[in-house]
Amino acid sequence: MIDRDALLEKYRAERDKRLRPEGNAQYVRLATHFPQMLGDPYTPRVEREPVTDHVRFAMVGGGFAGLCTGARLAQAGITDFRIIEAGGDVGGTWYWNRYPGAQCDTASIIYMPLLEETGHIPTEKYAHAPEIQGQAKAIARTFNLYEKALFHTEVSRCTWDEDAFVWVIETDRGDRFTADFVGIGTGPLNVPKLPGIAGIDTFKGHQFHTSRWDYGYTGGSADGAPMDRLANKRVAIIGTGATAVQCVPHLARDAQALFVVQRTPSSVDVRANEPIDPDWFKSIATPGWQTRWLENFAGNVGMGGAAEDWVQDGWTDLSKRIRSRIMALPPSDWTPDKMAAAWEMADHEKMSEIRNRAVDVVEDRATAEKLQAWYRQLCKRPCFHDAYLQAFNRPGVTLVDTDGQGVERIDETGLWVNGQHYAVDCIIHSTGFEVGTPTEERAGFDPVGRGGQKLSEAWADGMCTLHGLNSAGFPNLFLVQFAQAANFIVNVPHNWMETGTTIAAIVRHMTDHGLKTTEPDPKAQEDWVNLLLSGPGMMINNPDCTPGYYNNEGQPMDPRAKYAVGYPAGPNAFFRYMDGWRSNGAFKGLLFA
Ligand code: NDP
Repeated sequence: MIDRDALLEKYRAERDKRLRPEGNAQYVRLATHFPQMLGDPYTPRVEREPVTDHVRFAMVGGGFAGLCTGARLAQAGITDFRIIEAGGDVGGTWYWNRYPGAQCDTASIIYMPLLEETGHIPTEKYAHAPEIQGQAKAIARTFNLYEKALFHTEVSRCTWDEDAFVWVIETDRGDRFTADFVGIGTGPLNVPKLPGIAGIDTFKGHQFHTSRWDYGYTGGSADGAPMDRLANKRVAIIGTGATAVQCVPHLARDAQALFVVQRTPSSVDVRANEPIDPDWFKSIATPGWQTRWLENFAGNVGMGGAAEDWVQDGWTDLSKRIRSRIMALPPSDWTPDKMAAAWEMADHEKMSEIRNRAVDVVEDRATAEKLQAWYRQLCKRPCFHDAYLQAFNRPGVTLVDTDGQGVERIDETGLWVNGQHYAVDCIIHSTGFEVGTPTEERAGFDPVGRGGQKLSEAWADGMCTLHGLNSAGFPNLFLVQFAQAANFIVNVPHNWMETGTTIAAIVRHMTDHGLKTTEPDPKAQEDWVNLLLSGPGMMINNPDCTPGYYNNEGQPMDPRAKYAVGYPAGPNAFFRYMDGWRSNGAFKGLLFA
């Protein structure tokens, strides 16, 4: 029996311990403080001449957003396409994140985009990073997207030329070329951050961020080979979010001693990964299968209403529990308050199961209790793993719990927590990525549209788009992101496949009709934003949540954040709406010239 009042009091007490008035300012940017940690450890940079040509479509970002856009354009016959990418190859987040144990958290067969097109059969229910990056490369090869790609290149300026009807793109490699269309798909978690711990720059050992894994130091490889050079090393990992949950078991296996420095425990539920049986896969892989599976998953998470659950994972389980609690209410109780209370009880049951799991798995009772998460499940990124909690049963592994306070300070030889010094050879920062810093700072440029107006100026009062994709005053610019669209964050690539199809339809239509520019009718854009604002808004921003990047580190949200909402009727309804919108050929709400 759950004592709701006592539980909520405990949640609030744990939150209060962690609230820090400096919010996001507690973190430091690698580019300014540790540029040496930001370099690409995976691919050598090759010098080249600046590019000064013209392309039909320039895509900023070579992750799945850019690749799905390029693929859909190619399918529509638009092949003059250029990726501009900071990494040394395609893959985006899967290019950078090669830490040991990295794998997708959403089932491969819906997470890995365009599987039907490349013919790849995922090997595991939750594939590991090398296979996922392999799919990114396969998409680039299948659709010939490597041909004009510029790697190790960052856009510094992107300006609409009102006379020539082209975008002028400048980069940090001295390129200055033009494009009829520009897509921006730089992703939401693309800038790694470090904790601003006093003395962090005095550490004389080795330190790196998880998104720049230094296999030269650790030995081993992203493919899972043991990190043999850690056999005589004392290693500390700071942070216990989704990344640490995946790499801690590998560090625990290979390091002489591992100190896992925890500020807030993650909720770590069962993973139950398993190989995919190719015969089973063939039985489901009839034409159009991936779209059906994508829709089925989207219909099972959130308040979607799919009859069956084909994917059967932690995400669908979470949603089904909430839904069944709500559906168990008599129809007279379907009021917002009673539905929220039913949701809350489903959450308490789930979190209580997850807390019990920590005690069942971890042998040392005190350690197990410190690994228990005291907040509602969606306050932080839910995690799933079958070896993370188990790692704390290994003799060389120590949980250094900071009771919500974080590392006190770092010195030349290690770190201090609760007045105790931990001497280590290496510190691995698993401290996440910037969220909440200005978009133009994370992207590295601020598009300049009609009349010299910057996108950040146009959105000074809040984001403003038609379908999350186009913005008035920025002709031929496509924003490949999910806000003001499906906002489907459980399976992000689903957004990209759909957005790519929409972009391809618009560009194909303009090509066929000799149209030079497109941008939203300001009235249609305003109506779209008002429609989105009429929905329930963000459901997970509970004021009692422990701080983290989901809730602006517990500080008041920027009032403009309310504009980062999705289609009120949910992702599948949005995808269906967009299918109708682009198929009838009217492209209602867009102006063409
Ligand atoms: P997170 O932002 O989730 O975690 C950062 C961690 O660093 C937190 O545990 C945080 O503690 C801790 N931390 C920060 N500052 C300090 C400090 N001063 N002292 C001690 N600890 C500190 O980053 P991740 O890289 O783990 O994950 C980011 C996101 O990337 C995930 O939420 C997920 O969306 C995505 N991801 C997805 C994966 C997948 O799908 N397979 C795998 C990995 C990541 P606190 O919680 O107290 O702030």
